[in-house]
Amino acid sequence: MRISARLAIRAQKLPVPPYEQGRGDRTSRRKSPAGRCLDVAENPTISPVDRLHRRPAWLSGRTVVARQPLWIVLALGIAIAALSGTTILRLHETALSDARAVTMLAELYTQTYRMLAINEEMRAESPTAILLGEYRSARDEANTIVDRLGAHIPAAELQDTLGAYSTFTDLLDSEVSLLDGRRFDEARAVHHLVDAAFTPLADAIASLQQREQAEAQTTSAQSDVGTIGTLAFSVAAIALLVAQFERIGRERAAAERQARRAGEASMRSLIENSSDLVMVVDLDEHLLFASGSSRRILQLEPSALVGRAMVTLVHPDDEGALRRAVTDIIRNAQASPVVECRLRRGDGEWQYTEVALANLLDDRLVRGIVMNARDVTDRRALERRLAHQALHDPLTGLANRRMFLQRLERQITHIGSAAMLFLDLDGFKDLNDSFGHAGGDALLVAFAERLHTALRPGDTIARVGGDEFAALLEGVHDAKAATVVAQRVIRALAPPFEIFASEVFIAASIGIALSQEGEPVESMVGNADIAMYLAKSRGSGGIEVFEPTMRADSLARAELALELRGAIERSEFSVRYQPILDLAKETIAGFEALVRWEHPTRGEIQPARFIPGAEQTGLIVPIGRFVLRDACQQAVTWPGHLFLSVNLSPRQLQDPDLLDDVRAALRDSGFPPHRLELEITETAAMENDQLAAERLAELKALGVSLAIDDFGVGYSSLGYLRRFDVDVLKLDRSFIQGITTSARELAFVTSIVQLSKLLGVRTVAEGVESASQARKLREIGCDMAQGYFFARPLNVGDVRMFITERDGAGVDRPRQRLRSA
Ligand code: C2E
Ligand code: CA
Ligand code: CA
Repeated sequence: MRISARLAIRAQKLPVPPYEQGRGDRTSRRKSPAGRCLDVAENPTISPVDRLHRRPAWLSGRTVVARQPLWIVLALGIAIAALSGTTILRLHETALSDARAVTMLAELYTQTYRMLAINEEMRAESPTAILLGEYRSARDEANTIVDRLGAHIPAAELQDTLGAYSTFTDLLDSEVSLLDGRRFDEARAVHHLVDAAFTPLADAIASLQQREQAEAQTTSAQSDVGTIGTLAFSVAAIALLVAQFERIGRERAAAERQARRAGEASMRSLIENSSDLVMVVDLDEHLLFASGSSRRILQLEPSALVGRAMVTLVHPDDEGALRRAVTDIIRNAQASPVVECRLRRGDGEWQYTEVALANLLDDRLVRGIVMNARDVTDRRALERRLAHQALHDPLTGLANRRMFLQRLERQITHIGSAAMLFLDLDGFKDLNDSFGHAGGDALLVAFAERLHTALRPGDTIARVGGDEFAALLEGVHDAKAATVVAQRVIRALAPPFEIFASEVFIAASIGIALSQEGEPVESMVGNADIAMYLAKSRGSGGIEVFEPTMRADSLARAELALELRGAIERSEFSVRYQPILDLAKETIAGFEALVRWEHPTRGEIQPARFIPGAEQTGLIVPIGRFVLRDACQQAVTWPGHLFLSVNLSPRQLQDPDLLDDVRAALRDSGFPPHRLELEITETAAMENDQLAAERLAELKALGVSLAIDDFGVGYSSLGYLRRFDVDVLKLDRSFIQGITTSARELAFVTSIVQLSKLLGVRTVAEGVESASQARKLREIGCDMAQGYFFARPLNVGDVRMFITERDGAGVDRPRQRLRSA
């Protein structure tokens, strides 16, 4: 606009005064390398200007007559140029705003997707403050994008997207808060809704994006037409000028030159102002003209392009599409095809462009096909990133759950069957805790690489959760072959991983599932998950093939977890007490409280069946509180030298009310703190080192004792015995079983007992089932023991009887087997 106005003023000044002439000339020479391809004299054979210049017969009138139309044509040309310049600017502005809206929608989609991914991670690991913070900031970001969208898109059009967005975020928020509260079962239920809400949101965004993109395309197409129009007109205007000048004669030479410069400048400005590369090709697809943008877009001078065959510029894969577009447009001059194609840059790299074509072959001023190439590198990169992000795990670069399901679905549709592995790292959480987040990430990446080496290139490997992976096995259709692959994976995991310069051993449990006729892919993955769960429960590095009965088991477990809440309200829990014997004195030392669920229809349920669910849902906290209160109330009636040992779950240890609960149980029952012992597992103590250390110190300050339960099944690290000021070490049953049959086991238990003595920690052997075990334990100096050999967990009445009868009986001669409770 500004440029055209200036030109208009200049044009009016024609003829130019002598002092102006030289200056105009110099300026134009210095500033105008692009002017070269327009310069008739320099390029007489190929320039379209040149062709125009030679052609028009109607211009060859007499000088005097011609002078009038020149002014009119010039004025008209400048007016139109000015007009189209404004239009182009306006159109560009609209296109820009549309493009911004599209980008913003893309960002919104990315953010939303990121929120989903964070949420997924929360589900897989267990919510941490970092994840929660990440989630909140992703949501804030998404909210600002939504707000900003309002400035570019009318409210009425946004309505669907906003509605779907708020439904989605509401649900996601509630799932996150449930996860945060560790209410996993409820979170799971909400998760289905979140998943369901994502689809309409993604659809709404996609359709809005499409609409905006279409709009952007129309405006840019219009702007292209505008550019082409301007180009054509400017070419015409210059041609007219040139033709006129030729005929005007020598005495006007200086003025003519000046005017020509002005015309060239006008056209140059208009074309240069367009960020697109404008090219004109002839019917042989040779370039007749290229605009100055070729320097920016292709790193090539326009002169280096002119005369070249178009094919030498186009990527071989895109050649076909461009050829088709050219053929189309030759057949139908009204068509306005747009093709994406890569053009070779001066540095040999490929430049992504979107080329809009216009047929101006019949236009006697142009006689060519105009190609308007636009740099779409940024847009392509964004699209590629979006597509990749939607289907890949950002950490490992593996496929994500979505892509895995897609592949699975495709294989089942095309081939008819599929086999998959579901892998879950053993003890990853602990490693993550000890190495920190970065270490955990490094391990996952290393693990992913190891999987690649164990599987075949055609297999699809995906990360489907925090430390969960899945593999779709190509060409494997039966359980036997899948098991062979799973064994190969387990073997490949055996060598240590190097994480932050230390060697780490990591194993995985693997579940195998085969596709079933008519079964949805999600449920196939669910089956593999169930099999993996079973494999894991049988110990590290296990492999299980899914069988339908497994599903019944896991369903039963889930049902029980659902019933738990009601069970607490109906007080369906009771406590049993298993005696702990002093091996040297041969007397009762105390009792361990063990909870039971007296289910109204299923009868008595053992803790192993419901404690894991209670732990997951957090219901272990009220259950544990009940056990503590009830047991303290019972134990206060026992002889004063007997202690009471109560189990604390990892979850309870994290509960901020734990200290108050313990204090209240002691106060309300009147049970003395020094007779209360609290048992925690190694993993609970390790899980959150700092917090655990503080909690345990506070508990000790109340005067209660601490015991490490199930010693030997986890890390078997004696380091924290001192750190946490532990009083008692309870040796897991799995060690005790071997002491009478294996010298190695015996040596191992003996050294633990001796070491504990050195540290001033008393030892309890768990699960003693025979007289010989009890004798061996006494020989090696183990302080206490409990087990079926002495008594099963007893109900309250039997505890009294046991105390009376047991008095004075030798530990290796149980007088009487008491009825099991
Ligand atoms: P635990 O703390 O290791 O408890 C010992 C378990 O070993 C008890 O199983 C006990 O009945 C069993 N046991 C004792 N002697 C023998 C033996 O000679 N042979 C064999 N095979 N087993 C023996 P129970 O009562 O089924 O409890 C299982 C687990 O449930 C407990 O393992 C503990 O981790 C958890 N648990 C039980 N009550 C509570 C509770 O009130 N709170 C918490 N947080 N966990 C509890
Ligand atoms: Ca215990
Ligand atoms: Ca134990």
